[in-house]
Amino acid sequence: MPLISPWRADFPAIDALQRQGQTYLDSAATTQKPQALLDALMHYYCNGAANVHRAQHLPGAHATQAFEASRSKVSHWLNAADSGQIIFTHGATSALNLLAYGLEGVFSAGDEIAISALEHHANLLPWQQLAQRRNLKLVILPLDAHGLIDLDAASALIGPNTRLLAVSQFSNVLGAWQPLPRLLALARAQGALTVVDGAQGVVHGRHDVQALGCDFYVFSSHKLYGPEGLGVIYAGNEALPKLAHWQFGGEMVLTADYRHAEFRAAPLGFEAGTPPIASVIGLGATLDYLDSLDQRAVADHEAQLHKRLLEGLQQRDRVRVLGAPELALVSFVVEGVHNADLAHLLTEQGIAVRAGHHCAMPLLKHLGLPGAIRVSLGLYNDSDDLLRLFSALDQSLELLA
Ligand code: PMP
Repeated sequence: MPLISPWRADFPAIDALQRQGQTYLDSAATTQKPQALLDALMHYYCNGAANVHRAQHLPGAHATQAFEASRSKVSHWLNAADSGQIIFTHGATSALNLLAYGLEGVFSAGDEIAISALEHHANLLPWQQLAQRRNLKLVILPLDAHGLIDLDAASALIGPNTRLLAVSQFSNVLGAWQPLPRLLALARAQGALTVVDGAQGVVHGRHDVQALGCDFYVFSSHKLYGPEGLGVIYAGNEALPKLAHWQFGGEMVLTADYRHAEFRAAPLGFEAGTPPIASVIGLGATLDYLDSLDQRAVADHEAQLHKRLLEGLQQRDRVRVLGAPELALVSFVVEGVHNADLAHLLTEQGIAVRAGHHCAMPLLKHLGLPGAIRVSLGLYNDSDDLLRLFSALDQSLELLA
């Protein structure tokens, strides 16, 4: 039985890619965009772009209104208590850097930051660099045999010196939900701050930041079917005052003279300079679109497609799947074949997948691999995309035999 995505037609690029002979299976890197987003961008740019929060003219008022309406939509999407807890940045990477600089004052030499062995470089390097700047200890929580952060090890390693825990919600390589509630509870019990990298998790289902109980939750708009150049930080009320201003310039300032300045509170105090206005407005439209979908139908479709992807890969003799992927993405290697060679042959056959270390070099090293192929799904993919992948994979493996 074919699995058809009822939302495929809402994403014009999928059709366009197919006409170019491309099967797009790289949504964990970035997603295609819904028509609703394209319409919102057209509307904004065709009706008058203007800067936000500063102009008293009408276009400025319209832009500011649409911009702040998007902040409320993001807040609603995450079930934050207040839209003032939503800070816009230029991506998940800049969000995590903002946190690693803005929280620097919380640490003294010898304090510990705990991250996990599977973090994306974006949630490793800002903390590693902070640890070097402040003489802190970076503690790496190991993984269990299924590729999940090991809770026994975590409960031994998260202790009174832990000032901050920063972990992924969903691994961009292993495709597994991490045991966040238990990890966050361990950190909270030690009075440590908690940062959740939701870059991959935010795309699947709805997440309630209040129920999750983290201090900070971070994601990128472009992985959630939204525009590029935009990231989001949710900051809980208790943690927010601990965040010092980081980037300085227009918009974030309250008063300034040559020797002294005072800065705005969150969120504007953390949004220095002109923000990505169109992208913020576009994300709002994307969330309206996603909100209009039958969430259960989306979850069912994603689950069934994932099952077929995983089974199809596991059926092939030489294919070895990494970890125990639960949803939306599967990374694999083929015995005796270099991932770059396989990626090359797949690319030649119009299969758009990702190969390499997936911005998680330490994890791939830990797995003893130079790289892996990752197939990742969006809500627009259907079973025909998988059939094209499997047929291209079989052809490639025959050639590489
Ligand atoms: N964390 C994870 C888990 C990711 O997958 C990514 C993107 N690949 C990032 C952080 C960084 O996101 P961005 O490149 O959009 O800043």
